[in-house]
Amino acid sequence: MARRPIIAGNWKMNNNKIEAKELIDGILYGISSLDAEKMPEVIIAPTYTALWQAYDLIKNEPKIALSAQNVNPNPSGAYTGEVSLDMLADFKVKFVIIGHSERRQMFGETDEFINQKALAILNKGLIPIICCGETLEQREQGVTDAHLRTQITKAFEGISASDAKKSVIAYEPIWAIGTGKSCDAAEANRTIGEIRKVIKELYNEEVSDNIRILYGGSVKPSTIVEQMAQPEIDGGLIGGASLKADSFVDLIKGAM
Ligand code: PEP
Repeated sequence: MARRPIIAGNWKMNNNKIEAKELIDGILYGISSLDAEKMPEVIIAPTYTALWQAYDLIKNEPKIALSAQNVNPNPSGAYTGEVSLDMLADFKVKFVIIGHSERRQMFGETDEFINQKALAILNKGLIPIICCGETLEQREQGVTDAHLRTQITKAFEGISASDAKKSVIAYEPIWAIGTGKSCDAAEANRTIGEIRKVIKELYNEEVSDNIRILYGGSVKPSTIVEQMAQPEIDGGLIGGASLKADSFVDLIKGAM
């Protein structure tokens, strides 16, 4: 089963207008000579404030797609500080990251809210990148697989098989995010295999064979080749190493 790899850069709360332009210009320059046919699907997820500029810079570049880092599932209304799917659609945003551990831990987002977001995103024709992952404590207690099963089952509640098939999952062990300590590639592969089994149980083999599952957690140019060599790993969701054009382009090359 050939699943097209993804290299997605999650900028988090980084890059003002000038920095965002410099980074995008650097990425565009770095990928200009790459063969589009062999490239992974490249995604950047700037902050909301940089989306307009990012859209403008890449609108004629089919090699890069835009993602938002979050969305509010309601269509409009009294939700101070929030952004709707309609607003994201203005900038041709194709993906939305949801369920990131930083949002779960710092902003109290629940599995139910993440599920509401996933349903709204798919309803609007966009693609959710649904993050899941265990804490170090859960890993040490041996409950990683059970925890991921719960997160995935709840995130996909009410989602049809055809929508599940297009969705993207990012397995991000929380202890590996921003720590410089990547999960061992073979173990990440095993864990992602377990997530794929849950998807197969929830849907069927066609969905589990097609859904793309990324690894995230201190992915670097020095780790990407081994990670991409794992049969279950379909790409990376990358924070720190996506903030410099050189390293992001090296990650793209590492996935080719
Ligand atoms: C992330 O934020 O999703 C992430 C994986 O960050 P980092 O690559 O910096 O660990």
